[in-house]
Amino acid sequence: MIRYDLRCAKGHGFEDWFDSIADYERLEAEGDLSCPSCGSRQVKRGFMAPALAGASAKAEPAPMPMCGMAQGGPGCGRCAFEG
Ligand SMILES: [Zn+2]
Repeated sequence: MIRYDLRCAKGHGFEDWFDSIADYERLEAEGDLSCPSCGSRQVKRGFMAPALAGASAKAEPAPMPMCGMAQGGPGCGRCAFEG
């Protein structure tokens, strides 16, 4: 199971769980994603909350983000697997 932060065209943020990235993409392609606040089906995957540790924090290697490439799917577009 993976969790996506989603955002509708009206700016409502919400989150939803999907079996896999492919599951998410199928629902997106079929227009089955809808905003629980306004029902808009113009839902986009939002940004994951960036882990802003602050400039004063020690630089630690960030954990590899969960990515479709790791699960045999397309890359998430935000991580080193892409491209
Ligand atoms: Zn909405």
